[in-house]
Parts: sequence; C-alpha cells; structure tokens
Amino acid sequence: MKRRRVIYEGKAKTLYEGTEPGTLVQYFKDDATAGNGAKKDTIEGKGVLNNRISEYLMTQLAGIGVPTHFVRRLNMREQLIKEVEIIPLEVVVRNVAAGSMSKRLGIEEGTPLPRSIIEYYYKNDGLNDPWVSEEHITAFGWASPQDLDDIVNLTIRVNDFLSGLFLGAGIKLVDFKLEFGRLWENDYMRIVLADEISPDNCRLWDATTGNKLDKDRFRRDMGGVVEAYSEVARRLGIMPESVQGENKGPVLVQ
Ligand code: UDP
Repeated sequence: MKRRRVIYEGKAKTLYEGTEPGTLVQYFKDDATAGNGAKKDTIEGKGVLNNRISEYLMTQLAGIGVPTHFVRRLNMREQLIKEVEIIPLEVVVRNVAAGSMSKRLGIEEGTPLPRSIIEYYYKNDGLNDPWVSEEHITAFGWASPQDLDDIVNLTIRVNDFLSGLFLGAGIKLVDFKLEFGRLWENDYMRIVLADEISPDNCRLWDATTGNKLDKDRFRRDMGGVVEAYSEVARRLGIMPESVQGENKGPVLVQ
C-alpha cells in the first residue's frame, strides 16, 4: 500500500495530495492553537465539526455564486478541494469591535462598528502575521490591484450573506477571517475562496445572550469549546454523524 503524500501540514489542518488531478484532500485535525502556536491543545471532535460547518457554509456561498475551492466532503474529517495558489493574506472582516481591534484601538468589545471594516494581515508565521495595507500588498506583489478588487467584492458578499445566515440561526457574526487562492483553468485565473469557514476563524456570539460560540472559548480558557461548536452546527441545522468517539454510530440531524 502506498502512503499518500502530505502537501502541507498546518496547525489545524493537513493537506494531502488529491484523488483527482488539480485537487487536494483537506484533513481537519482536533489540534487548536492560539497566539501563533504559543498555546496548544487537542479538542476532541473539533475537526469533525469544522469539516461539516465549513462544508455547509462553502456550499451555501457557492449557491449564491461565490466561487470556492470546495468540491465535496469525503468523510468525517476530510474534504476534497481544488488546488489553488494561496494568496498570502488573511482578510479579516469586522462588524463589531472585538479581539485585536479592541486592543489596538481601545474600542470596547461588543461596540457595533459604523460600517463593516476589512483588514489585511500578511500570512507569515515568522513575523506573527503583521497588519498590512493595500499599499504593501500591491507594492510587494502579494496580490495585484485587480486581485484585490475581486477579493474585496467577494469579501463584502460573503459578509452580507453569512451575517444574514447566522442571524437566522440566532448568532451574531462579529468578525471572521477569509483566505483566497488563485485557481487556474487553462489560461484563465480566478480568485476563489479557500481555507475554511468555521468557529475557528469566526467570532460568533449568541444574538440574545452574547454567549461566545467560537474559538475565543479556547483562546480565553473559557472551556466548553466542543459544546459551543456543536451548538453552532445544531443551530445551522447540521450535525456531524458523531462528534466524539467517531465510531459511536450516526446521529444525523438534517
Ligand atoms: N483570525 C483567524 N486567524 C488568525 C487571526 C485571526 O482566523 O490568525 C480570525 C479570528 O478568529 C477572528 C478574526 O479573525 O474571528 C479577527 O481576529 P483578531 O484580529 O481580533 O485577532 P485575535 O484577537 O483572534 O488575535
């Protein structure tokens, strides 16, 4: 038997070579890190939930015409994705002040922003993903002005759509991070949504109580991480077959 090739090993995901040309397999681990790897733990069941939640959100986005790298879910922890050239940016959208914005600008967490704000961070672990401007991005060629234009348009559509989708589930989409890639189809290139969309990279607050249903529970040692992620899946009307003890049998709510 041949062992499949690891293409990239990330903190929460591993990418393997795909089953078809131009594809990769994205495997969701249970590992959680915060502070650029300073804090580490394993949260049993997290990978299964993120695989399922990201599948659902990417599929819904594809339904409104947002191009994504997602092809199909393969099993509890893996999904088939199109191989793209990742643009080295973390694109953060904020609707409500929280996290690093609150710290940096002294705005109390939970303050609604006058309008949605997009920020860019240069994806570079060695540098701790520094905050950068459009000027840096185009000057250093990480993305062209045309790429950035596409990225902004897609990001605004994703934010509008997901804000509504989550609100319908009683959840406030406070902020989130997106990544984009270049997908080559013959001689043409398109910018597509890549990576994942899950409680690992979104801030999701209960719309009524303000209860945190996202990775801040891990970052801030609040406990109940899997319970919170399960609650998000439950409210979205999706639940993975089984979250803990993956062979306990199916509990499918759909
Ligand atoms: N985020 C992410 N990966 C990162 C940094 C941030 O997914 O490396 C997400 C995070 O979950 C939040 C949003 O981007 O939803 C904004 O994060 P922020 O800049 O406030 O940083 P943090 O407080 O998480 O360090």
